[in-house]
Amino acid sequence: MVHRHHWAAVTVGKQRFLFGCWLVICATPLVAQNSLPPLFSEGSAEQRLLDQIKVSRRQEKQIGQTQFANFRKSLRGRGVRLLVRGRDVEYIRQLVGVLREQMTHRDRYPNFTVYLAKTRSTDARAFPGGIIIVTAGMLDLAETEAALAGVLAHELSHIDRGHQLDRYRRLAVAQEGFPRGQFSLTEMFSRGRLLINTYARPFRPEQESEADADAARWTLRSGYSPLEFARLFDRFANRAGGGNPRITDFWRSHPPHRQRLAAVADVAAAEARQRGIVLTQLYVGRENLQRRIPRHEKAFP
Ligand SMILES: [Zn+2]
Repeated sequence: MVHRHHWAAVTVGKQRFLFGCWLVICATPLVAQNSLPPLFSEGSAEQRLLDQIKVSRRQEKQIGQTQFANFRKSLRGRGVRLLVRGRDVEYIRQLVGVLREQMTHRDRYPNFTVYLAKTRSTDARAFPGGIIIVTAGMLDLAETEAALAGVLAHELSHIDRGHQLDRYRRLAVAQEGFPRGQFSLTEMFSRGRLLINTYARPFRPEQESEADADAARWTLRSGYSPLEFARLFDRFANRAGGGNPRITDFWRSHPPHRQRLAAVADVAAAEARQRGIVLTQLYVGRENLQRRIPRHEKAFP
């Protein structure tokens, strides 16, 4: 939830890249509030350059493993254990399997490695290549299978859209551009902008918005109520006020979570309208989560 950076260097081929990863169910605003001065604003020229950088499945896994190893070390430092099996892990894995069907690039990710972090803090996180981590605290906070499905869909969306590879692509574009010096001045500026923005904006609020919107659509399309995911932001904020100083600080320094809740509800309403679905009739699954039995195994009334 908190934007903490863990910087890691990754060597891919002959090139070395710096990465920051972050806790992804974060309360970044849905609308980019930190709009940049015109010099740094990106357009289609920058996007074209980024699109040219293809990351192979092997490279992606390598990047993900390095980020994960770094994260795991930080968990170990805090005395947090990571479980790779057990009832909770199996339950999460089954839900990931259901939601994976909604991914555009699901063929690229035939299976995911799922971990449960034994901590009361409420986090979820995804790493390139297909690693998902959910904390025990998040399972508690979710309260319903539909809400947990929203969290997992949000994480899968980051992987599906290659959000965590953004930094890699930017550095690759910049490193390709400068040494050879065979580009026009305009292109040099484009490459420079991408590089500068890599450092000026380590978090990209628009990526959180995309992941939230995907989560709303994907849960709905899987038969779950996306409103449960929206309510999670409320629950988190209410709990955050309950005395965890770090999280309280965090909420004080960020725009209200209500923006995020409202945006998820809007996307859900639009999607439901389009499909002729009544939102309130979608599945919630409180007992499913309590008993760690996914809906596809047993639907409770
Ligand atoms: Zn996120």
